[in-house]
Amino acid sequence: MRYAIAPGDPPAVPVAGTDLSFPVRHIYCVGRNYADHAKEMGGDASKEPPFFFTKFPDAIVAVTPPRAGRVHYPMATANFHHELELVVAIGAPGVHLTPERAPSVIFGYAVGLDMTRRDLQNDMREKKRPWDIGKSFAQAAPIAPLHRVAETGALTSGPVELDVNGAPRQRGDLADMIWDVPHTLAFLSQLYRLLPGDLVFTGTPSGVGAVKVGDRLDGRIAGLTPLSIEIVAAE
Ligand code: MN
Repeated sequence: MRYAIAPGDPPAVPVAGTDLSFPVRHIYCVGRNYADHAKEMGGDASKEPPFFFTKFPDAIVAVTPPRAGRVHYPMATANFHHELELVVAIGAPGVHLTPERAPSVIFGYAVGLDMTRRDLQNDMREKKRPWDIGKSFAQAAPIAPLHRVAETGALTSGPVELDVNGAPRQRGDLADMIWDVPHTLAFLSQLYRLLPGDLVFTGTPSGVGAVKVGDRLDGRIAGLTPLSIEIVAAE
């Protein structure tokens, strides 16, 4: 193949315990999946079907400990928020999945951050416009190495925790998801054919908040490699 312009490097996430990388195809995100976060965003926690949005695949920032990732404070916002989330990696195609069949397409899991330009998201929401500019932008998806489901087993409970500068900010539990991972994948696969390489950010517990240049974020989910990033000045 001879390209007319230089192609970019494909976004990829290291697979823990191997020398392999997982190439990222699509990034899907669940809008609201923990009751206490739904409430803090001004919604209610009734069990409606989940809704989804997307991020550019190259929004990935692959972070491997012990180094913290560096995330530049993005342009066009004054309210840059963290949302710590379990990320599910898809390893096999799947469409019109049932919750019973959905686990068969899971490759593994990682700790991720759905970084958000909250002022832009809220402004678009109020105007009934798409959220894209609040959610999909450069470096909006920091992620730690993926762990294969063969190693972890199905993750259905356990702490989801984020500290900012060493102080607790988000405290949740995977068991408190409104829609668990199999149901989330079942809903998503009625809208899109899930493909190997897809990542699904599964929503955040309460405690989201703004960060500033110089802040250090440390995220943990039981059984997975933790994710640490530092917010640095815009280039
Ligand atoms: Mn989110």
